Amino acid sequence: QTAPAFLSVWDMHAYYGESYIVQGISFNVHEGEILALLGRNGAGKTTTLRAIARMDSPQVNHGEIWLDHQPLHKMSSYEAASVGLGLVPEDRRIIPGLTVEENLQLAQIAPPVGWSIERIYDLFPRLGERRSQEGVTLSGGEQQMLSIARALARDLKVLLLDEPYEGLAPVIVDEIEKTLRVIKEQGMTTILVEQNAVRALQLADRAIILDTGSIVFDGSAAEVLENAQLRAEYLAI
Ligand code: ATP
Repeated sequence: QTAPAFLSVWDMHAYYGESYIVQGISFNVHEGEILALLGRNGAGKTTTLRAIARMDSPQVNHGEIWLDHQPLHKMSSYEAASVGLGLVPEDRRIIPGLTVEENLQLAQIAPPVGWSIERIYDLFPRLGERRSQEGVTLSGGEQQMLSIARALARDLKVLLLDEPYEGLAPVIVDEIEKTLRVIKEQGMTTILVEQNAVRALQLADRAIILDTGSIVFDGSAAEVLENAQLRAEYLAI
């Protein structure tokens, strides 16, 4: 007996103009779990995250997306954010001209407010040390931390992470991974898109593998790590 799904995607199709990218996918994410969304370059992972977050592109012309009984598929990206969806994009989007702390304060302008700034600094001591530094002058790893922290500063139900480890040294990846475990222990639900599939699978409870816009695997992360054929065919690991 499994708990009812917290986030549920049902028969979602997504396009960029004429390009048919996400070709009817359905999956559930349970509250408090980390789901790794994996697959080769161009498989449709980022497109899936953007579709769930209700960004203007891609266009989603079919299907339903529910978060905690709320119909995301009927919402704008702004409304989706206001009911608790937090997308941390690959390019991090730190706001120039603002300090670390101002970047966090800006995230808290519109209620409902999530984690307090002090609680965020407990989780990311490096950000606390650099609270007065301009955000865009942080190192890549610190910018990634700020980007995640900014999502937590809003009242978040689901964290959508697009390649959080990209371009970061292994020791920084360790640090971010540790933080994501703490965030999970505090009850957060996370979808993690990552090229570094091994690292993602070590952290995740479950995994979905996408191949040309369709789901070819949905199961436990351990199962993927144990299945050499699956790894070789879809993940090249
Ligand atoms: P990657 O790891 O390379 O980012 P991905 O699985 O996240 O891979 P997507 O970024 O979702 O893949 O891209 C899926 C497909 O959609 C690719 O063929 C890509 O070229 C195409 N695509 C992505 N963004 C756009 C866009 N804005 N306009 C048109 N096509 C796009």
